[in-house]
Amino acid sequence: AVKRTPFIAGNWKMNLDHLQSIAFVQKLAWSLADAKHDFADAEVAVFPPFTDLRSVQTLVSADSLPIAYGAQDVSAHDSGAYTGEISGAFLAALDCRYVIIGHSERRTLHGESDADINAKVLAAHRHGLIPVLCVGETAEDLEAHGPSAVPVAQLRAALEGVDGSKGLVVAYEPVWAIGSGQAATPDQAEQVAAALRGVLTEVFDDEIAQATRVLYGGSVKAANIASFLREPNVDGALVGGASLDIAEFSSIARFKK
Ligand code: PEP
Repeated sequence: AVKRTPFIAGNWKMNLDHLQSIAFVQKLAWSLADAKHDFADAEVAVFPPFTDLRSVQTLVSADSLPIAYGAQDVSAHDSGAYTGEISGAFLAALDCRYVIIGHSERRTLHGESDADINAKVLAAHRHGLIPVLCVGETAEDLEAHGPSAVPVAQLRAALEGVDGSKGLVVAYEPVWAIGSGQAATPDQAEQVAAALRGVLTEVFDDEIAQATRVLYGGSVKAANIASFLREPNVDGALVGGASLDIAEFSSIARFKK
């Protein structure tokens, strides 16, 4: 079997300004170092607000911190008259490695469609960024269509015309589990993660599907991370609330299966 390095990603959402971001990332790095976190065991990434990224870049590069970072969104366009938008070119210039695309808050609060999300994945790839593509069903979807139908359809739509060799992380985030304290069961996460990997095989090929990390997200904390990572198709977590607590997030990153 292919070895996929577990990925522990913290989505800060609209929390921590650029000064707070520096203190936070520095302390997180200390906490991981103190605990002798082995970065071969898990890759750790943070997703701060846009206005923090320059500060995070400066700190991470000056101190060679083994923490990856990325943005929480990207424009589908590369430049031009798009007031308020941020180009993937700008993110690449700040050495972002990743960008979250299609988070349920963007889909719901900003009306992002599958087509918008597909355009953003293509834009990320044009600039050498790895999309952390979020998919997930609402409680109503779950009731009406079962667990996999909506995430599978969202993934297929997002991958239209995408070159699988350019890198991708998929995050399965059931909307009903986000910020609710009500995580999916490891078994539910595994079932959908396996279905999503099936889509990757179909759309790309088995080699890419086996190499791509599929994360679970939704009320992940230190107390439940290991149960998800024991599942064969779950390769890490996208963490919201618990990523803002240094001790908690660092203990998630140090999960022991
Ligand atoms: C998220 O919004 O990506 C998320 C997983 O949030 P939480 O961990 O707070 O449920």
